[in-house]
Amino acid sequence: MEESTLDAFAEDAVSEPEEEPSFGEDQSPVDRGDATGGEAPPIAVTYRFSPEPRECVRCGGSEREHWAGDDGFVCPACVEW
Ligand SMILES: [Zn+2]
Repeated sequence: MEESTLDAFAEDAVSEPEEEPSFGEDQSPVDRGDATGGEAPPIAVTYRFSPEPRECVRCGGSEREHWAGDDGFVCPACVEW
């Protein structure tokens, strides 16, 4: 009777290692993080191109290309380097 109990315990111990493949799932979020970082480069934040012209906060002119300055969006001619 005791031997049968030990066999049942042994089966439980064997089933535990089967959960190890779950480590592969932990790697998935890391791959997604790399993809997100590549799609949003920090340099794209300061320069913007709009289909419709936007007003420059300095000269008031309408430009499709504008840069995000301290005062707001400015046209390329008003950008301070
Ligand atoms: Zn301007």
